[in-house]
Amino acid sequence: MPATTQPTSDTTSFDVEAFRAQFPALQQEVYEDTPLVYLDNAATSQKPDAVIERAERYYRRENSNVHRGVHRLSQDATEAYESARKSIARFINAPAPEQVIYTKGTTEGLNLVANTFGQKRVGAGDEILLTEMEHHSNIVPWQMLAEQVGAEIRVLPVTDRGVLQMDRLAEYLTEDTALVAVTHVSNTLGTINPVKDLIDAAHAVDVPVVVDGAQSAPHLPVDVQALDADFFVFSGHKMFGPTGIGILYGKREHLEAMPPYQGGGDMIDRVSFDETTYDAPPHKFEAGTPHIEGAIGLGAAAEFIMDLEWSAVQAHEDDVLAYATEQVRAIDGIRLIGTAPEKTSVLSFVFEDIHPYDAGTFLDRLGIAVRTGHHCTQPLLKRYGLPGTIRASFAAYNTRADANRLAEGLHRTREMLG
Ligand code: PMP
Repeated sequence: MPATTQPTSDTTSFDVEAFRAQFPALQQEVYEDTPLVYLDNAATSQKPDAVIERAERYYRRENSNVHRGVHRLSQDATEAYESARKSIARFINAPAPEQVIYTKGTTEGLNLVANTFGQKRVGAGDEILLTEMEHHSNIVPWQMLAEQVGAEIRVLPVTDRGVLQMDRLAEYLTEDTALVAVTHVSNTLGTINPVKDLIDAAHAVDVPVVVDGAQSAPHLPVDVQALDADFFVFSGHKMFGPTGIGILYGKREHLEAMPPYQGGGDMIDRVSFDETTYDAPPHKFEAGTPHIEGAIGLGAAAEFIMDLEWSAVQAHEDDVLAYATEQVRAIDGIRLIGTAPEKTSVLSFVFEDIHPYDAGTFLDRLGIAVRTGHHCTQPLLKRYGLPGTIRASFAAYNTRADANRLAEGLHRTREMLG
């Protein structure tokens, strides 16, 4: 059945049109009156008025450096910066805001853990366990660490459908494993990993676990205490917040025992030429002037998400993903990559006879923004024998109508390029 004859409204109670209206970038037309269909949310999401206006208010009214001034603006900026930390702590159910450290993003959070906790924890002959579906930012820092200390990287494989082979965990979680680092949700496949099971299995043998939450924070309710994660990292820009800001959550005992990542202002207790002592977490890990408006904007994004009725949003997201999956699956010559039973927000696929890059470029001329390539997961793509995929990734503001535009665009792509 052609995609256009399918219903365009979904079946959930979430008012998606009212929600969409809060995102100015979604209201635009691209290439001569073509309304934009934005399906590149796994790369970065659009920003709502609430976040844009909060960051703007900081620059218009509160702009000042934090933690340093006795004057009014500095106090306002500090108050906003620290109150955002409290919002983010609530967003992930951290036990205390001091366990929420501002970073540049997921990548910096992972590098921070590798260079501090990792340096102390992992030694010669140890193993670091990753999975086959990790993003490069959850591979390369561990490889660099392994090279420095003489450790080995082990990789838990995935099935053809893109599910972690948990039944083989015993082969990989060995007495030499010093640390596990795993993505909560795959940015290429959309698979939701059983991270709680992995954490429980690792903790049973006293191995700490680092969770890459870049793709889960925008789509799943995250509870770091229920997960019992040792570290949980994510990026603001994928969850309606600003770019250049992210979060590292860590267990208190780890954060207190870890050495600082960078030295400089704002992270010290006392400095002399003989000796320097450090401030307590989180400031120990926040050297220098931070991304103040980013942190405040991320706090606004966390509040914005917490104001939503999350079960209704999730039902809507699941509906649109399932609908889009059926539309795309029905197109001749398309093969889906990643069909795990537990999935969120990502639809990856290939045309048998059209290069992903050509398809992506053609879709762009129809106003449809998707991503093509390896999505920073080259080992995973190698596992599937592919140079890349076409990836449509959804956010709460996407609709069945967007899925229909995608399916129509793919039909035209096949007609024109196939
Ligand atoms: N991990 C995953 C699973 C991701 O999807 C991404 C972003 N594509 C990252 C890590 C890196 O995030 P950032 O570039 O914001 O540091």
